[in-house]
Amino acid sequence: MPKAVVKFGGSNLKCKEDIGNIIRVIKKYEGPVVVVVSAFYGVTNYLIDSLNKARHDESIAQKTIDYLLSLKRETLELHVGDTNVINRILSEISALLEELGRYLQGIALTGDASPALEDHVQAYGERISAVFLAGILNFEGIETKVALPESIGLITDGEFGTASVDFVKSTAKVREALSGDLVYVVPGFYGLSPEGKTTLFGRGGSDYSAASIARCLGAPSLDIWKDVNGFLSADPKTVDNPVQISQLTYNEAAELAYFGAKILHPRTVEPLSSPHIPIRIFNIFGDSDLENPRSVVNAEKIVTKGVVKSVTSSEDFGILKLKGSGVGAKPGILAKVTTALHLAGININSVLTSQISINILIAKKDLKTAYSVVSAIELSAVGRVQIIEDIAVVATVGNGIAENYGVAARIFTALASNGINVMMSCLGASPIVCYFLVRKNDCIPAVKAIHEEFFETISPSV
Ligand code: ASP
Ligand code: MG
Repeated sequence: MPKAVVKFGGSNLKCKEDIGNIIRVIKKYEGPVVVVVSAFYGVTNYLIDSLNKARHDESIAQKTIDYLLSLKRETLELHVGDTNVINRILSEISALLEELGRYLQGIALTGDASPALEDHVQAYGERISAVFLAGILNFEGIETKVALPESIGLITDGEFGTASVDFVKSTAKVREALSGDLVYVVPGFYGLSPEGKTTLFGRGGSDYSAASIARCLGAPSLDIWKDVNGFLSADPKTVDNPVQISQLTYNEAAELAYFGAKILHPRTVEPLSSPHIPIRIFNIFGDSDLENPRSVVNAEKIVTKGVVKSVTSSEDFGILKLKGSGVGAKPGILAKVTTALHLAGININSVLTSQISINILIAKKDLKTAYSVVSAIELSAVGRVQIIEDIAVVATVGNGIAENYGVAARIFTALASNGINVMMSCLGASPIVCYFLVRKNDCIPAVKAIHEEFFETISPSV
């Protein structure tokens, strides 16, 4: 039986008590598993900050080393009652930090970092977590080895910052490398380009690492341990009584993640949907029965009575708007604009067009660059380029949304009854999503209104 792949994220590595929960969970599996870990909470952001500062500040390298070395000392002291073991783990982490320091010094000397170097530096958070966790597990008597992506042959397509795993090149090697009768801890977030360079899977990409390894192994499941209750009908910070979603399809999970649900990285399902490997989500605070995950993501399509399974929202998007009396009729505008955005490394999340305007939904962080890139192109039909930041995207997701009458009516009536104006909407781009844009201030009321309509009132027969 192939090993299960078990993933712990930064949210499981926040405070010094957290490691106790991870040990408890790994022991529950009663046998060898492959553990994939993220960086400690906040460490990737810290590394990105160090990278940026290192370009003009030579002292950053040493500051980064000192900070990261001190970060988990207390945790080690709490969990490992043997000074020799603590020193051994710290010296392994120090060796990694020295390497990191040399890279940061190099950046300070040249004042610059290539995309390859940026990816390499950011992945140290995960490397440190892996060494730390494996050290503690060994101390606990669980035979454990760190398995770096570079030593197990997790090969990517070589795209810095947004790589994908090349399963043709990786599967056999990864399977062989992780076949021993022991626990392996793999740092998430990156794989290796065919030329041997670190390539990141994107922010939050450790979920994708874990999914890719599960696929290479043909694992019975990918188990993701969170500090929350899996997928719910809405964010519990927004609504009072969200309903647990115990089962959802790969597509539903992917769409919810794409539109803001923080449970999974949207790419997690990519490697798992065709081999039908289920994703099981547990809450590390309290769950101990491995047969009872909070949510299971698999291929089984269930249409619920109200059709909508969950409503999510995100304030991370903005609109790039191109106005002009004939933009809808003139061929070639979108080709030029999307090519320019692509060359600037900007991802497009949605496009809604009409005769007089083209609206491109992109991450808010990319809006200003998108504006300058697009303003610089010669576009005769476009009178004005504009950015709109004060928006939120609200998405309702569920199998059957585009196939059942009355769902949209319920969504928009609920919004209207609460005085919420819809600025733009889209239904049918995916058969399982209806999403729309509202002013940022209307985001929470919109989620509440839809949740109330579909989950808190007795539903009519849709
Ligand atoms: N540490 C990385 C990040 O913060 C990857 C991850 O957490 O999954 O984006
Ligand atoms: Mg994460």
